[in-house]
Amino acid sequence: MKIEKLEQIYEGKAKKIYSTNNENEVIIYYKDDATAFNNIKKGQILNKGILNARITTIIFEYLMKNGIKTHLIKNISQREQLCERVTIIPLEVIVRNILAGSTAKLFTMEEGLKLDTPIFEICYKKDELKDPMINDSHAIALKLATREELDTIYRETSKINELLKNLFGGIGINLVDFKIEFGKDKDGNIVLADEISPDSCRLWDEKTDEKMDKDRFRRDLGNVEEAYIEVLKRLESTVLV
Ligand code: UDP
Repeated sequence: MKIEKLEQIYEGKAKKIYSTNNENEVIIYYKDDATAFNNIKKGQILNKGILNARITTIIFEYLMKNGIKTHLIKNISQREQLCERVTIIPLEVIVRNILAGSTAKLFTMEEGLKLDTPIFEICYKKDELKDPMINDSHAIALKLATREELDTIYRETSKINELLKNLFGGIGINLVDFKIEFGKDKDGNIVLADEISPDSCRLWDEKTDEKMDKDRFRRDLGNVEEAYIEVLKRLESTVLV
């Protein structure tokens, strides 16, 4: 059956979702729009949509090869992916291998501290509340996820962290932290959804500590597009060999 793109069903800050002629599949379109600090800073990063669609696809395909279930079916154009339709679990799951960003601020600690064991955090995905950090009992009591679902999410997140550390470690990049989201498919399986890209990860060059992620936009460091291009170039070099 030929895929037909039908109406837009959702527009987020960086992506749009369209229904298709298959009720179990959606098309995700990656925009160039960039936001930071809960939508206070707004802008565009040239070609970001193309770069993040490609980067996310490479990373999701690598994770799938290594046993992680995701919503991704395939890339269908430079900016579009065909994905399984899932109901997003309203949690942002954050993993930290090196201290940076909001948690460094929370504990008034310097960015850059290498952690012996990763920190796992969950945030309630709700823009009006500025995505507050919550704990498991909040998530369960607010019926965002069950205990069993949280166990699955943490287990998969931990595997994803190990796989991503290996992937980025092989291309001279330190995986400082990242945010992922999960969805539930039509059979109730929990699968990795959304994106994994320099928008959702902190990536520091192993040799120079140079930032290769959205902090270049958040902190006005310049050369944002160039950093995303470099991440893609290194990922392409590793998946091709
Ligand atoms: N992150 C994200 N979306 C969010 C919040 C965080 O992708 O809405 C990512 C962010 O890019 C970083 C990690 O999650 O890689 C941890 O972010 P942090 O809590 O330090 O918040 P920030 O400093 O970005 O406000």
